[in-house]
Amino acid sequence: METLLFDSKNEGAVEAVANILKNGGLVAIPTETVYGLAANAFDEKACANIFKAKGRPGDNPLIVHISSLNMLGDIVEEFPEKARLLAEKFWPGPLTMIMKKSEKIPNVTSANLPSVAVRFPAHPVARRIIEETGLPLAAPSANLSGSPSPTSFEHCVHDLMGRVDAIIDGGPSSVGVESTIISFAGEKPVLLRPGYVTLEQLRETIGEVEVSHAVLEKLEEGEKVLSPGMKYKHYAPKAQVTLVKASSEDYIKYVNEHAEEGIFALCFDEEAKKLSVSTVCYGSEFSDEEQAEHIFEALRIIDESGAKKVFAHSPKVTGIGLAVYNRLIRAAGFDVIEL
Ligand code: AMP
Ligand code: MG
Repeated sequence: METLLFDSKNEGAVEAVANILKNGGLVAIPTETVYGLAANAFDEKACANIFKAKGRPGDNPLIVHISSLNMLGDIVEEFPEKARLLAEKFWPGPLTMIMKKSEKIPNVTSANLPSVAVRFPAHPVARRIIEETGLPLAAPSANLSGSPSPTSFEHCVHDLMGRVDAIIDGGPSSVGVESTIISFAGEKPVLLRPGYVTLEQLRETIGEVEVSHAVLEKLEEGEKVLSPGMKYKHYAPKAQVTLVKASSEDYIKYVNEHAEEGIFALCFDEEAKKLSVSTVCYGSEFSDEEQAEHIFEALRIIDESGAKKVFAHSPKVTGIGLAVYNRLIRAAGFDVIEL
């Protein structure tokens, strides 16, 4: 398949990709979290093609993106009060909410679940594309299933060239990790995936929020989960990654003691100079925002470097750090050492 490439800065680019989407095509689009592979959320065939293009398991549902609250009526059965409060505070933005699905949303989009995930992105290009199509867009991350989520146009080209109808450049994603996901499908609100909107912020706004154990822990074989995406091996670099929970001093000492050919450190900016192995930095030790912004790019760089073994310094698990930790522990296949 020929993949058309667009730059959102060029006149007519947004209109062109909107037309492709209206005709049932697939387009990788920029959002503030990561790039998304978009299709008309009401179009069963187009949504089925998303799964094919990504190699995504059919039981991993898609997030539906909107550009105004008016669109919600066709997507969800009800808009719970607590979801409304969060929408007022965090939409448009990097928060996805799961609610009871309307019949208009095909089963392929929600992977046969009675609920649907909805997000109102803040990225101006994403919003213009949704507005121009006049349709909610189902859009999982625009990577090949299993590889790190794409935070730039180049990452999408690398993964999806020849597999989708178009890719549109809107600059690098500023948040860098996928949206926070909270579910209102059960009795109590549950955090299914941590992101830029933090657990602390959610609790400040609506009170009690449970945390799905899949956020921090490995799922048992065959365990039924609220968020199917959490059970798959994710963001997996080719190298074997070990997540190291330690102070900077202990981390540096440990890595230097294990310095061998092919060993890489996935570390904080401040640590690189003190390490005697090849390093890839993912932001300052003191900025969870920077760590989120750079983590997926860092994992891709490691992939291209031919690293055999990676010692990744664990971020703190508070604030946005919880989101970074959640992605890294999956990249590490839950291989963690605590010093
Ligand atoms: P991605 O768009 O690639 O970031 O993946 C979407 C994530 O949202 C996956 O982890 C899904 O499991 C989760 N998700 C989407 N819809 C639902 C839903 N109805 N119930 C639970 N999780 C969902
Ligand atoms: Mg994904």
